[in-house]
Amino acid sequence: MSGLRSQTHYPLPVSRRLALFVIAIAGLIISGCSQSADEQARAASVPLDKFAGGRPIRVVCTTGMVADLVRNVGGDRVHVEQLMGEGVDPHLYKSSPGDLSRLDAADVIFYSGLHLEGKMAELFERIAARKRTIAVTANLAHDRLIGDENSHDPHVWMDVALWSETTQTVLETLSEFDPTHAAEYQSRQSEYREQLAALDQECRAKLAAIPAERRVLVTAHDAFSYFGRAYQTEVRAIQGISTESEAGVREINDLVSFLVERKIKAVFVETSVSDRNIQALIEGCQSRGHRVTIGGALYSDAMGAAGTPEGTYIGMIRKNVATIVDALK
Ligand SMILES: [Zn+2]
Repeated sequence: MSGLRSQTHYPLPVSRRLALFVIAIAGLIISGCSQSADEQARAASVPLDKFAGGRPIRVVCTTGMVADLVRNVGGDRVHVEQLMGEGVDPHLYKSSPGDLSRLDAADVIFYSGLHLEGKMAELFERIAARKRTIAVTANLAHDRLIGDENSHDPHVWMDVALWSETTQTVLETLSEFDPTHAAEYQSRQSEYREQLAALDQECRAKLAAIPAERRVLVTAHDAFSYFGRAYQTEVRAIQGISTESEAGVREINDLVSFLVERKIKAVFVETSVSDRNIQALIEGCQSRGHRVTIGGALYSDAMGAAGTPEGTYIGMIRKNVATIVDALK
């Protein structure tokens, strides 16, 4: 920029100035492309105010739950783009060419992690060599996670108190990137954690209305183990913790027996998973003389539409709890 400004002291013909400008831009583009990973890593560690003049931090997130987390901690200091919208299954999601250019333009990338975004793991690894690419679950204590070391259950947002701890990673990342506004991020994070603590209590109180023996959540895929542990709810699912593997006839038959024996009256579909297996479950129960209905659609791995209450994390959890209580109480 200083080069261009100095030229105004010695005016050049417009065409000549334009030519110099084009050469300068071309130079920037070429040097940008040929930057080594080291140089790019250095660029990524420059605090925001040093190169961006205080514009909002460009953040790209994978799921709605992660995007909502970053919006709550970052406030108007962040501009958040979310790759996976309403009803999108993160286990199966593959990045589009449009996603790649968004990721490329981002200052910081947040994803959920623990292999939730199974098809994007390699991409994040590559991008992490040149810019801040952070799994919000990265700093959670392993003894709080469900599953073994190599296959932790990724659905951490289903336990509100545990998800609340991921705000710390977002806080630290934004504060490190933009230290000038660290106090602001800190106060937003504290305020949001208070809201989440209240939500956690609310979930507990509402679910307690369901008699313990009827507090059983049967869903299409195993996204609710953290929910079950946090809110004393028994959880059963047809598919495992990822939707990648197909459910077999045996899994469906076992679950039909479970529903018949326990006289469970409702099962749940998920907004981001096909209801094919749940329908098979209902038909299986019918053929054994036990009537099971669909208790409603739960938000498991994706939030609702933007602009609706379910389009926020708090609204999504509230809606799930209301659906479960209505169907099982
Ligand atoms: Zn899932």
